Amino acid sequence: MPSQISRRNFLTLAGAAALSVGALAAPTGSRAQSGKTSPAPAADVAAYAFLCGILKTQTQYMLKDTRVGTPFDIPVTFFVVKHGKDWVAFDTGNNAMVAKDPVAYWGEPVTKAYYPVMKDYEEFHVQIKKLGIAPKDLKAVILSHGHLDHAGAIDNLKGTDVPIYLQQKEIEIIKKAVADGKKTAYIPEDFKVMDQLNIKGVDGVFDLFGDQTVVAFPTPGHTEGHQSLLVKQSKGHPLVLAADAMYTLENMQDAIPPGLAWDVPRSVQALYAFKAMKYIGAEIVPSHDPDYWKTKPVGSKVFEA
Ligand SMILES: [Zn+2]
Repeated sequence: MPSQISRRNFLTLAGAAALSVGALAAPTGSRAQSGKTSPAPAADVAAYAFLCGILKTQTQYMLKDTRVGTPFDIPVTFFVVKHGKDWVAFDTGNNAMVAKDPVAYWGEPVTKAYYPVMKDYEEFHVQIKKLGIAPKDLKAVILSHGHLDHAGAIDNLKGTDVPIYLQQKEIEIIKKAVADGKKTAYIPEDFKVMDQLNIKGVDGVFDLFGDQTVVAFPTPGHTEGHQSLLVKQSKGHPLVLAADAMYTLENMQDAIPPGLAWDVPRSVQALYAFKAMKYIGAEIVPSHDPDYWKTKPVGSKVFEA
């Protein structure tokens, strides 16, 4: 399939996917141009993937009702995208405390289902040094959702002006979880620095640079305010960083909902949309698929797909 055609179709479909799972709307405080159909020449765009330890879990927690009780060691992932001279992070991995005392930090019930194994050097700010940057150098952070293995290291942005974009609905859920004070998949301690962060809510499709190369779009189901990220790299296939809207390729291939879901039917709708995007040449990147990540470049090597 000619790449020019597939890219155009892909973007159309990405918009349609957002419409099917959430309102396509102008984001709050963004530079989005959702009605634009002829983007300016794109800056050079490249993505980098990082692994942040593993979670020792069982298959049913990732693939609903599937191979119940089977041990499953899954990687934790986050991404940094270079757009021209700007750097953007998508998710952050676990908090640094997870490398020191996971049971105390995440709590016993959580670690019984998902036991993290992480080294100090796998923490967000240590790893992005490989790209020659520090958290304060980021143009923006986009968070898929507030869960502990995705938003855990946002304390690195404390005291900076770096905007952290979440769907507005997810911010509301995080605030409720913090007020509740219980350790669930949302760890209140991860957000104790929330007042010192530049958190911004978006609603619907969010085109960060206004050139359709780095675009967040809602994929609710796993959580109510979950979003995924489209990245049109200058080389290779366009990427859809699914985050927890697609833990593993098997979730998508067999339409198996995630083991943890706010709304199961909606989580399956997101998987259907990903499957269709794949047919037009997009690489759908799973957040936690151990087989997939065995074969992919990570660290300072450009993520190729
Ligand atoms: Zn999650």
